[in-house]
This record gives sequence, structure tokens and C-alpha cells, in this order.
Amino acid sequence: MDKKIFVTRSSMPSQEEYMKEIEDLWNSHWLTNMGAHHEKLKKELKDYLQIPEIALVSSGHMALETAIQALELTGEVITTPFTFVSTTHALVRNGIQPVYCDIREDDYTIDADKMESLITDKTTAILPVHVYGNVCQVEKIEEIAKKYELKVIYDASHAFGVKYKGKALAGYGDVATFSFHATKIFHTVEGGAVCSHDSSLNEKIHRIKNFGILDEEHVQEIGMNAKMNELQAAMGSCNLRHIEQEISQRRNIYLEYRKCLEPCVGIRLNRKREDVETNCAYFPIIVEDEFPMDRDSLYDHLKANGIYARKYFYPLIPKMDCYQKIYKNINLPVAENIARRVLTLPLFGEMSLEDVHRICDIIMKCYK
Ligand SMILES: *Cc1c(COP(=O)(O)O)cnc(C)c1O
Repeated sequence: MDKKIFVTRSSMPSQEEYMKEIEDLWNSHWLTNMGAHHEKLKKELKDYLQIPEIALVSSGHMALETAIQALELTGEVITTPFTFVSTTHALVRNGIQPVYCDIREDDYTIDADKMESLITDKTTAILPVHVYGNVCQVEKIEEIAKKYELKVIYDASHAFGVKYKGKALAGYGDVATFSFHATKIFHTVEGGAVCSHDSSLNEKIHRIKNFGILDEEHVQEIGMNAKMNELQAAMGSCNLRHIEQEISQRRNIYLEYRKCLEPCVGIRLNRKREDVETNCAYFPIIVEDEFPMDRDSLYDHLKANGIYARKYFYPLIPKMDCYQKIYKNINLPVAENIARRVLTLPLFGEMSLEDVHRICDIIMKCYK
């Protein structure tokens, strides 16, 4: 059989580049606790993401948890069921009841037009996700948040490098969180960040990620350990040097996929928007009834041919083992339909166009 192709493959700087980056650690012996590499990456990311405040943390999940704690959210938070499970876990682990709002048919982001009816006197915030880097209805969500005095946290884990109306997406919401996990388009092996405009909020997040410590004699918050260490930060600085190249390599693959699959009846592609510059991080397809087989059969068929696509995101979060006891009769028709039909195809910088053609050929042969 031909070589296996997995859904993603982590990008890496050359061994030489990384070794050079971390050489000084053998002099300083300063391996974590906001050292020189941490400070350097912070500055680089502020520039790249065009935001005034950023706190680097140990993961995308901890970015969500520190933000939720810092904003002192309680009660209910309106969120999307169509995301990685971390988004809901972060709420529930902080004692908050997630209230699921259905998603949009065309870009799978939370449907702001269905949001207002879910707001109660317990609602304290909205937690949408720019899923696959697709931009949420940011203006409408801002309007609703203002009207009902709610906080907004964007889980922007998929949206690193995405530009909306020419500007980086990180600036929307009270905070935007990123995941720098090894499988994400920009990574620090494990890591994440919380972006905001508010320096006192940023300082609070900074304390929370370091046990709540203010100074040697004062602990101000019931914090945790969610610090990014020096080896992680150094990996980030290396990867950030190559981010434009990473995105442009992915763009070639993304465009080739689009070209090959656009004519395919029953395969719906991610919506294109003139005002969004995508980061080409993911290639989700929706397998509609007109396609000769259903999503699960296509997934198995690809796998039998050495192609490891992912049912990303399936099942919906309220249907997962740990949540289905709590959510018995949820009504999320659009999200359920998309979760049942979605398949994310392999996409990473080092993938070749031949790999894309091999995958598209397998899909096209299904019509015969
Ligand atoms: C990856 C991801 C997370 C969690 O990030 P980690 O860095 O793996 O902790 C949260 N939300 C979304 C949407 C993600 O894709």
C-alpha cells in the first residue's frame, strides 16, 4: 500500500535553528518562570497578533480556564456545541453551566441570531469559537454582549494568522484565547495565550497562571500552574519565523483541494469570504446526501486506502459520555447535521500536491 497520510503533521524548525535558539539556557539555567525566551515570544506575538496585552500559558485549555477565572464568570455561559471538548470542559471545571446555541449552516460558527432567546438572568458571558478559522459574527455578538452586559471570550484556537477586514482576529472580544498545541498551525509543542486590551486583566491572568502570586509575600488569587516554559517559548520564536511560509505552503494545498473537489456533487466545501484572509489550517468537507456514500463510509474507505481523515467535530459535546447524562433533550438541528456529515481531510505544510491528488482521486472514484 502507498504511504499513510495522517490528518496533520507538526511543523518544526531545523534542529540546528532550535539548538541555536536555546543555547543560552546552558549559561543561564533559567528554564521557566517568565525568563528571557518567554519575554521575547511575548513581544513577538504582540506584534504579530496586533494586540496590546498577552499572557502566555501552558496550553490552549489553560488559556480558557485562566480567562474564565480572571473575568470571574459565574452562572451560565452561552457557547457552541461544535468545537473541541476543551471549550466546554473549561466552563464546567469552573462551575459554570454551558448553554448551547446552535451553529450556522454555512460556516459552522455559533449562530448569533439564535442567541438572545437563550439569555437568562444567570448569563454572564458568551464563549464562541472561530471554528476552522471561520470568523464568527463578531459585530452582532458585540452588539448582544453590550445590550445584556455580557463578557465575550473568543476561543481563537483555530484562528492564528486569520485576518478579518485586514486586521488580526485576536482583537475581538474581552479576551481571545489561542492554543499553541503541536497540531496547530503555530505551536510551542504545548502552549497557549490569552489576548486582551486590558492591562489589569492581563496582570490578573499573569498572576493566576503562577499560583496567584503577586510578590514574595502576597498571594492574591487562588491560581494554578499554567506557565509556559523557556523551551516551549523558544520553539515558538523559531516557528513564528516561518509562519508566513507555513501558511503559504498550506494555501497551495488548500487551493488544490478546492480546485479538485469543487466539481464534486455532494461534497460541500468551507465557505469562502471576501473579507476574511484564511490561515488554511483545516480542510473540512460536508458529505451531503447527493454523495454516493455517507460520511462514515467515506471515512472508512479513505482509511482502507491509508488516508487518515478525522471526524472533527464528532460527536457533539453534549452527546459525549461525560455530558449526555446532563443534556438529554437538546435541540441543535444544524450542529447535529454538520457533526454527522463533517470530515476533516489531511492538511499540513509539508504535504505534497501528489498527496492531495491521491486523496481527491479516491473520493472521485466513489462516484463509479
Ligand atoms: C486545540 C483546541 C483547544 C485546546 O488547546 P490545547 O492547547 O490542546 O489545550 C481548545 N479549543 C479548541 C477549539 C481547540 O482546537
